[in-house]
Amino acid sequence: MGYALILILAWFGFAVIALAVLHRRALAAVWREPVLARPVLIVESDDWGPGPEEDAAALREIAATLGAVRDRGGRSAVMTLGVVGGVPDAAAIRASGFSLYARRSLLEPDFAPIVAAMCDGCRAGVFALQRHGLEHFWPASLMARLRVADGCNSEGILRWLDEGGLRSEALPSPLQSRWVDCTCLPSAPLDPVAVAQAVHEETDLLQRVFGGAPEVAVPNTFVWDDGVEQAWAAHGVRVVVTPGWRYEGRDAAGRLLPPARRIRNGEIGRGGVTYVVRDAYFEPVRGHRAEDVTAALARKCGEGRPLLLETHRESFIGPPPARVAAVAELGRALRMAQSVRPDLCFTTTAELAQALRDAASPLRERRWTPRLAAWCARVCNEPGVARLLKYSGLGALLGAARYLLGDVTYRRSPDAGRC
Ligand SMILES: [Zn+2]
Repeated sequence: MGYALILILAWFGFAVIALAVLHRRALAAVWREPVLARPVLIVESDDWGPGPEEDAAALREIAATLGAVRDRGGRSAVMTLGVVGGVPDAAAIRASGFSLYARRSLLEPDFAPIVAAMCDGCRAGVFALQRHGLEHFWPASLMARLRVADGCNSEGILRWLDEGGLRSEALPSPLQSRWVDCTCLPSAPLDPVAVAQAVHEETDLLQRVFGGAPEVAVPNTFVWDDGVEQAWAAHGVRVVVTPGWRYEGRDAAGRLLPPARRIRNGEIGRGGVTYVVRDAYFEPVRGHRAEDVTAALARKCGEGRPLLLETHRESFIGPPPARVAAVAELGRALRMAQSVRPDLCFTTTAELAQALRDAASPLRERRWTPRLAAWCARVCNEPGVARLLKYSGLGALLGAARYLLGDVTYRRSPDAGRC
């Protein structure tokens, strides 16, 4: 009996040593990542910008749905709008013989109803603006692809342009990566001077349209590099939304290259920007339902992390029946999340980042037992660690530890309900 016990202890001892040796950086980073004291849900939507007037109606329907759901502190649900400032001016580009790029921007009267819907939503506290590129592509790459007659899908891009070029979602995926040169694949980095100029132009446009440029940036297709980050920071960006990784380019087939680095909530990047992680999805147009949101919320609560739900304009701009169904599902998801976590907090991504930076924030957990429970949950869900945990049996031990530590039970929080 004693011999068996020694063998078991030795087994787990070796497993712990292997875990520490192989994954010590991840274990430490997971511990340093702030733990939230209460559940937080933010709906993060991208790609809003110039478009047909129906987009304004969609935004107003979304705003009404968000405004009808409030947390215990009276705060309405928030959807961030990743704003794209402009689209190509097809007629002017054609008139130049495809030699010059021209832009139609949100300043044009045609798009005033969309801007008004965004601004009204911001004033009502249901929308928060974020940067998502002056265009959803790098104009020089688009122009080069328009001029190339062979093998680069220029026919499809010409058709897209002739249809108005309003829906960046319809561009080939590599071209949607604004912050890398995808004229030819594999991609190449952009000239940092050109990047800085582009960020300057974007900031100027957003200030003229909205009276101020948002402090949160969402990299298009999550491809960006240090030069982009530095330029953002120099133009007022304080927060960068990430999927938990940074991608820096595309391969010869147009696929994202393996990530250059892992990113966690609250980490600091170039120029002092704060990273937040958005890695859950709610795309009604792709079949995501309210139940998926509550499942993601449960996982994030266990990890003491915020739930940032990624969605896109594409989900809400279909024909009226699809649009109505998508907005209704959004409302159902928010109400269901609130019913399973009554102390759920709604906030903006900028405010969340502020809490991640501030250890004294009431949104931050300071007690060590919930922090340790969150660490156990995070380690169990950490990519690359799962196999070792499973085959060594350490995963079961971590699960038991979470149980004994009481899990991250927000309902016990002394501040529960004060959002
Ligand atoms: Zn986008």
